[in-house]
Formats: sequence, C-alpha cells, structure tokens
Amino acid sequence: MKHYDVIIVGAGSMGMAAGYYLARQGVHTLLIDAGDPPHQMGSHHGDTRIIRHAYGEGELYVPLTIRAMELWKELEEASGKRLFVQTGVLSGGPRDSRFVQNVQKSAERYSLPLEVLSAKEAAKRWPGIHMPDDFTGCYEPTSGVLYSEDCIRAYRQQALLHGAELLVNERVKEISAAPDGAVVATEHGTYACDRLLISAGAWNPDVLTSLGLSLPLTPTRKTVSWFEADESLYRSDRFPAFIFDLPDSIFYGFPSFDGAGVKIGRHDGGQPVHPDQLDRTFGTCPSDEADTRSFLEKFMPQAAGPLRQGKVCLYTFTPDEDFIIDKHPEYPHIVIAAGFSGHGFKFASAVGEAASQLLTSGTAVHDLSRFAIGRW
Ligand SMILES: Cc1cc2nc3c(=O)[nH]c(=O)nc-3n(C[C@H](O)[C@H](O)[C@H](O)COP(=O)(O)OP(=O)(O)OC[C@H]3O[C@@H](n4cnc5c(N)ncnc54)[C@H](O)[C@@H]3O)c2cc1C
Repeated sequence: MKHYDVIIVGAGSMGMAAGYYLARQGVHTLLIDAGDPPHQMGSHHGDTRIIRHAYGEGELYVPLTIRAMELWKELEEASGKRLFVQTGVLSGGPRDSRFVQNVQKSAERYSLPLEVLSAKEAAKRWPGIHMPDDFTGCYEPTSGVLYSEDCIRAYRQQALLHGAELLVNERVKEISAAPDGAVVATEHGTYACDRLLISAGAWNPDVLTSLGLSLPLTPTRKTVSWFEADESLYRSDRFPAFIFDLPDSIFYGFPSFDGAGVKIGRHDGGQPVHPDQLDRTFGTCPSDEADTRSFLEKFMPQAAGPLRQGKVCLYTFTPDEDFIIDKHPEYPHIVIAAGFSGHGFKFASAVGEAASQLLTSGTAVHDLSRFAIGRW
C-alpha cells in the first residue's frame, strides 16, 4: 500500500489550496477527488466569487480575508494567471442593518478603504442602482471578484509542480483512523498516510461518518442566474460586485464580464438536500428565477433582461454560518475543513494555508477559535 505524509480527501476549493501549501514545503501529499476539479458538481463552479474585506459577517474574519488576498496575489504571480479583478464591492442595506454596520466597524477597526454613500450618492455614481432613501451603500474600492475555477486550476497546476500527487474521478468510500495515521479506501485502491485533511464540501457529512463524527452540516441546493443587462450601466469596468442585506433576504451579484450579463444569487434559503440527490436542472423550483428577477426589477431594473443562463450549486450551511476548521476531537492528526456556508471561497487560499499549518505543526498562525468543532 502506498504511504503518504498527508492525504487530502476532496481537492476542491479548500483541499486543492491546502495541497499546494503542503507540497510547497516538501510534504509528500496525495489529493483525491471524486471529480476532476474544477468541475460543476460541488460548490466552486459558475466562474466567479466575490472577495470582500470589511466583513459584514463579523470583524473576526477580516485578518483572514486580508491574508487570503495576499495569497491570491502570490498565486497570480506563481501561476502567471489573472485570478482577481478589482471591480470594487458595494454592500447595501437599510441603515440599521447589522451587516452594513459590521462592514463599517470592520473597516474602521482595520483601517480598510471604505466609502459610505447615501442612496442618492450611490445612484449618482452608478445610475444602474436604485436604493430606497433609508439605505446605505458601503463601497470597498479594493475588493472585487475572483475567477474561482481558474483559482483551483492554478492551485492544481502549482501543487503538481511541487510534487503533489492527484487522483481524479476517484471517490473515497471508507476511512479507517488509527492513533498514528489513517487508511483511505476509494473505489480503485487503498492508500495510507500519517495525517489527513477532510475537505469534501457538501459530501463532508458522508465522509465524516466513517470517522465516527456527526457535525451539524446542511448541504443545500442553491441557484445562480445570469440576466441580460444594459452593458453601458453594468459592465465590469464600471459597475461593482454587490451584496444587499434586505430585511427578509440577502442577494449578491456580479457586474457583466465580457457581455455575459449580470450574475446574481440569493444567499439565504435554498432546499436542504443530499448532494447525490440534487436536482441539477435550473428552473425546477419557480423561485430559481423569480427571486433574483424580483430583486433586479426593484434595485437594478436595467439588469432585469431575459434570463441568459442559470446554474445549480451547493452550499453547506452550519447553524451559525461560521466555518469548521479544526482537528478531529479524537484524532488530532486529522483536520476538518467544512461548513463554508456559502461564503468560503474568498478564504480558500488562507484556509488552505491554515489547514497545512494544522497538519504540519499542529497550530495555525490564524485565529481559528470561531471555527472550532467544540462550539456545539
Ligand atoms: C452559487 C454559489 C455562489 C457563491 N458565492 C460566493 C462568493 O461570492 N464568495 C465566496 O467567498 N464564496 C461563495 N460561495 C461559497 C464557496 O464557493 C464555497 O464556500 C466553497 O467553494 C466551498 O469549498 P469546499 O472546498 O468546501 O467545497 P468544493 O469546492 O465543492 O470541494 C469539495 C470537493 O470534494 C470532492 N469530494 C466530495 N466527496 C468526495 C469523496 N467521497 N471522495 C473524494 N472527493 C470528494 C468534490 O468532488 C469537490 O471537488 C458560493 C457558493 C455557491 C454555490
């Protein structure tokens, strides 16, 4: 049986990044994925992800998002690929929205560039935006958009360049943990390791079952839609990415890149589902198109044109929507990265680095206390 220092189960957003940081240090690493990443089956497809820094979900995330950005820039240099576009990001919502207030607090505390705009000021700057008078817009000029699939492609190429091995289209079926290592069985073979990373996205609940662990993770069906938009208003060189915290819903979206249309999704809600039973046809639920269209009609009416395309994707929610990045409570040589609750991609570089540190030295330089398994 082939033996590795580290095996990574799930080489998607988090796993592929971790594979790179491990291989770069000379750690003998095997990545195993059920698909051929990047692919359309998990949580990372649909071309783009927003990266924000003044974090509405809480200040604790700010150092992690700052570190993540440094690492994305490093990856751009190492791979020679453009992975980030500085479109700016607008966070909008009623003045009393906790999210919008947290954005301002995060910016103040960490001296991040942020412009706070009234509804009128925002409309003057971006005539495609119509916010009610009691809304505030917080604009982060240095934030923007990551090409998520290209990011994974770049990590894959770099990890392999540094000597990592990758098995694709090979699903992990069973894991046997021992005090000093683990044995991983797939459909095609069995592999041994000293340390293990579990980063199987929406399939983490299944994978963790074989390690005797049940965590409050809810894989959830989500959709995202592209609408034909007035390019003179919503093109990526003149319109920011955005997130709107409304009293009963949260919407996020992207300007039109290369004429593809405005891409938009609803962050809250969705249908809990086992990922193997996921209905991947966009439009099966009437809300797939109706939710995002009604947001656009109200807030960005010239972007509510005909539907160009829609995609189905997976979130994996935790109850508090904070991540799980921690060691297995019984087996400290097994690290778990799970429950990214629909806002994890921007952090994948920093999470990969942190996971690699947990695996090699037992501690990470980042403060991961909010992501502990023991909080439940
Ligand atoms: C529509 C949508 C929009 C989003 N927008 C944003 C955004 O704007 N900004 C942001 O920061 N985040 C965003 N996110 C969230 C972000 O994309 C996810 O949090 C992140 O991709 C999760 O990464 P992951 O590594 O956990 O999962 P994945 O990237 O899905 O990786 C998991 C991998 O594990 C593999 N796997 C599963 N089971 C097995 C097994 N048994 N054996 C081997 N391999 C296995 C899978 O094939 C997959 O490749 C969005 C998510 C969606 C769905």
